Amino acid sequence: MDLLAEDQAKYAVAWRDYLRRRKALLASVLGYLPFGVLVTLFIVGMGWSYKIAEVAAMLWLVGAILVGVHYMQWPCPKCGKVFHMAGRTKNIFAQRCQHCDLSKAEIEAIYQNNPTAMPVA
Ligand SMILES: [Zn+2]
Repeated sequence: MDLLAEDQAKYAVAWRDYLRRRKALLASVLGYLPFGVLVTLFIVGMGWSYKIAEVAAMLWLVGAILVGVHYMQWPCPKCGKVFHMAGRTKNIFAQRCQHCDLSKAEIEAIYQNNPTAMPVA
């Protein structure tokens, strides 16, 4: 793939955005159970109603769904369309853009070879 430096920078920025979205999705999914346990233990320790823990767990779940929607709406740096969705097709594990066939591996390679790319915090 032969891209202009401007496009390479755009791909690198897009990849950083993708990594942030993926990290947030993993944290929200994997953190649900530990969060629920900790909140429940805290609620029980304080002698409060379990309803508070249920509400907190539901709020976390709503947040996780919103994070998932944000992840799924990551725009492809090449075509600008939503990478993981095309029409009714939704693939959270898609490795190629559902519209232009650009692969995540290509974007990541450009990101890793781009001197302006900043590491993800
Ligand atoms: Zn695309």
